[in-house]
Amino acid sequence: MKILVLNCGSSSIKYQLLDMATETLITKGLVERIGLKDSVLKYTVEGVQRKIERDIPGHSEGISLVLDVISKGEHRVIDSLDEITAVGHRVTHGGEKFKDSVVITDSVIKDIEACIPIAPLHNPANLEGIYACRKLMPDTLQVAVFDTAFHQTMPEKAYMYGLPYDLYKKYGVRRYGFHGTSHRYVTEQTAKLMGKKPEDLKLVICHLGNGASVTAVKNGKSVDTSMGFTPLEGLIMGTRCGEIDPALVCFIMEHEDMTAKQVSRYLNSKSGVLGLSEISSDFRDLEDAAIAGDERAEMTINAFAYQVERYIGAYIMVMNGADAIVFTAGLGENSPYVRAKVCADLDYLGSRLDAARNEKGEKTRKISTDDSKVAVYVVPTNEEIMIARECKRFLNK
Ligand code: ADP
Repeated sequence: MKILVLNCGSSSIKYQLLDMATETLITKGLVERIGLKDSVLKYTVEGVQRKIERDIPGHSEGISLVLDVISKGEHRVIDSLDEITAVGHRVTHGGEKFKDSVVITDSVIKDIEACIPIAPLHNPANLEGIYACRKLMPDTLQVAVFDTAFHQTMPEKAYMYGLPYDLYKKYGVRRYGFHGTSHRYVTEQTAKLMGKKPEDLKLVICHLGNGASVTAVKNGKSVDTSMGFTPLEGLIMGTRCGEIDPALVCFIMEHEDMTAKQVSRYLNSKSGVLGLSEISSDFRDLEDAAIAGDERAEMTINAFAYQVERYIGAYIMVMNGADAIVFTAGLGENSPYVRAKVCADLDYLGSRLDAARNEKGEKTRKISTDDSKVAVYVVPTNEEIMIARECKRFLNK
């Protein structure tokens, strides 16, 4: 069973072809600079990276090129597109409509289009991928997997903002949360690792990448998460500001003479650890700088780690306890430095990081001491496998 997973951004298409009999990767690639000069497809087959540079004016042409590379020519990995049993699309926003993944039909497309006003940066690109695949592979099962769906179990008290209720009724203004596919995958993997069912666990999952969010998962269900109406809320991120006093939006617009669009770009692309450190949005650069004695870099990492710590504390409180704290995504999986800062104050939980385990070991591992009451784990995420598992679920039905 071969499943193609697509993640379409405004000018990019990330893809993976997976063999779901064994959950192994067959090939993966990335189309970049769609509709711009110097568009390129970079792909990996059997560990060798290759690239094709050519004009790629739209998503349809991009996906068409990907399908050609996969199924034709000297680096093909399948002999016919018929070997692809399903395509899984990552869709950012499913609003309140989609509480689970769905098989894509005309009416599903209409409902995803209806979410565009609340996800203008993401859903249109995701839809481009869906339109293109339906045209190019009309007989193949297409499945939409939403970043928001896992968080649809949050109780009202966790998702309502202190704003006039009318905004919720008119526009659906509320917390939605994102990275749901990752939080769900990590929940399942952690439960396996602990030899328990997700239903029997309370987990705090820290997805720390370029975008970052913390989720409280109680009995297998998301009960609160740090991202909000958009992925801008919550933690300080690579280039996103995370939570700030909302009055600052007007303050910045007034004093820096910005329009609504400009301030949105400022908060999404110029802020976060990049804006704060004035060094980089990449934590590797910040760690190097901090270790070399750069005070601003150290302050930036401390501010980030402090926020993660604060969410962990809050979420353990709202779940009335936790069985484990889990680190995942680029930074969560790879930075002992940041993990140690986040976990500096676990004594009240009766827990402690094990310095050697934190420093190195298997990719998936426990990093707390064996006598810790609340365990701490590193569990690599894999959103593509989760999306492909969702496709498989529909194929098996
Ligand atoms: P996204 O998918 O949101 O773009 P990733 O999950 O790939 O992000 O994470 C990217 C972040 O992880 C970057 O800020 C990068 O610096 C950080 N990262 C990756 N590897 C390391 C490492 N070895 N040490 C510190 N940070 C790392």
